[in-house]
Amino acid sequence: MTSAKKYDAIVIGAGVGGLSVATLLAKEGKKVLVLEQLDRPGGRALSIQGKEIADKGLDWYKKVLASQFTYIADSDPAIEKILADRMLDGYTLDIGYHAISANGAGYMLDFEDLIGGLPEVAKHGAMYGNYFKGTLYRDVAGTFVDPQLKKIGKEMKIPFLSFYYEAYGLPEEEIDRLEKVSFQEWAEGKGITKSDILFDHLHSVGTLFSTINDPKDISMGDIFRYFKHAFGPKLTRNVLGFVGGFVGNGTMEWSKAIVEKLKGFGGEILYKSRVLEIKVDDAKVTGVRVETPDGEETFLADTVISNIPAQHTFKVIDRKYFPEAWSTKVESMYGYGSYAPYMGLNKLVMPEEEAKMGLKNTCILPKSEGYDYDVYICWNIQSAVDPSVAPAGKYLYTAYLPLTEKESRNPELVKKIVARLPEFMEEIYPGFKESIDWKLDLVCWKLEGVAKSINQAGTQKVPVRSEHVKGLFFAGDTAKGYGVAMDCAIASGVICAGEILGKDFGIR
Ligand SMILES: Cc1cc2nc3c(=O)[nH]c(=O)nc-3n(C[C@H](O)[C@H](O)[C@H](O)COP(=O)(O)OP(=O)(O)OC[C@H]3O[C@@H](n4cnc5c(N)ncnc54)[C@H](O)[C@@H]3O)c2cc1C
Repeated sequence: MTSAKKYDAIVIGAGVGGLSVATLLAKEGKKVLVLEQLDRPGGRALSIQGKEIADKGLDWYKKVLASQFTYIADSDPAIEKILADRMLDGYTLDIGYHAISANGAGYMLDFEDLIGGLPEVAKHGAMYGNYFKGTLYRDVAGTFVDPQLKKIGKEMKIPFLSFYYEAYGLPEEEIDRLEKVSFQEWAEGKGITKSDILFDHLHSVGTLFSTINDPKDISMGDIFRYFKHAFGPKLTRNVLGFVGGFVGNGTMEWSKAIVEKLKGFGGEILYKSRVLEIKVDDAKVTGVRVETPDGEETFLADTVISNIPAQHTFKVIDRKYFPEAWSTKVESMYGYGSYAPYMGLNKLVMPEEEAKMGLKNTCILPKSEGYDYDVYICWNIQSAVDPSVAPAGKYLYTAYLPLTEKESRNPELVKKIVARLPEFMEEIYPGFKESIDWKLDLVCWKLEGVAKSINQAGTQKVPVRSEHVKGLFFAGDTAKGYGVAMDCAIASGVICAGEILGKDFGIR
């Protein structure tokens, strides 16, 4: 019998949170093993080549989607025809819309700096804006402020720019307090609700950052903490020019590059290796039991980091090790889902400048249709920003429309939003429907692992170090971390590595 291999740390999951912690530990000289159930890194931030879907078939595609909490709600034409006619060939599809906050200049850049930079990954920046009553208002980006918004703010004496700048002067205790204050309440306090244009504009940005439709549930403290710590230091570095952007050739390229860094630091990664159990002895972790392509194996370590969304923790560790109140709280933390469609277009019917922007509307379907709140949309012609994701002469449209976890699983509400999207686009850009070659309607019920609501955001999430099992840690967008989804998972990975190593990496 061969003895089980021993590591300093084992990371369960190669999502962006798991890879961040693993790479930092390896860089600091730890012997690290990452175990990933899929054949590729990235987790919810993974990408698939359209050709690969047609080659491997619908069952394979559905399984990959399901492993990341996503399903195909509809398509046009039928998915079988889309694949048989190889309509997706030449496209790169992320699991749903996948923009990177500030084109990677948030916590992503802080992390990249910690591991010696990542120049090999291309990032394509985009400006964003929102439509309100037929007029386009541009988002604040770096020092740019839309003159129309500026004028309204000046004439009505509404300090709406506080949304962007107030955070920099706030002490941490005030940011902690504001975690439980909603965007709506904060905006009312500032008099921003006196202008529907200014309120809608900031609401559209608040939802972009939090993925929550209802302004009464968006945590203001989470946004402020993100602005102060992720963006603040970048203002002086002059790297904050874009609201968002896309990783070149799909979001997974970032994770693939991180895996190369990890290996360069001596770390190991095993794909198609699903952890079945975290082994615990005398309230201390001792290792993991894993299903690998070669059969079941055990790997030993005194430190195990779970990158699995925290609500699913008990799939790999017995809940008897945790107080019942803790387990119930973790299981009841809610995420936010999304309708995340793709469309292959044969021409662009909107002005070129708008095709290159991320465009938001705070209401594509009203609450009165049965939703928790008015449904918001943010869409891009991803290929206008990064041409590598569509074949020559074609265009890739991606969008995200936040839905609560419950709405994401409600067939009637999903059907309504799927039917509404082309009509909505046609209303703004006549001829849009005719430009669609194919449409694939994905829905995920866990875009955000834990919604950044006033009851759960930031410091209220699962701490990175388990208080109950020695050597057990958590990293990812459901553990302590801040800001937009991928950035939040990365921040949590950095916090987690700092906690394990007793080192301050600058994110706390
Ligand atoms: C449709 C969609 C759109 C999104 N859009 C954006 C966006 O525009 N911008 C943005 O910043 N973020 C976006 N996100 C969110 C972002 O992808 C996530 O917040 C982030 O990737 C979460 O990373 P994570 O490390 O926390 O977890 P995950 O990505 O969930 O990683 C967990 C990993 O663990 C693996 N795993 C699970 N169980 C096991 C096991 N037992 N054994 C081994 N491995 C296991 C999984 O396969 C996965 O790789 C989107 C997500 C979705 C689904």
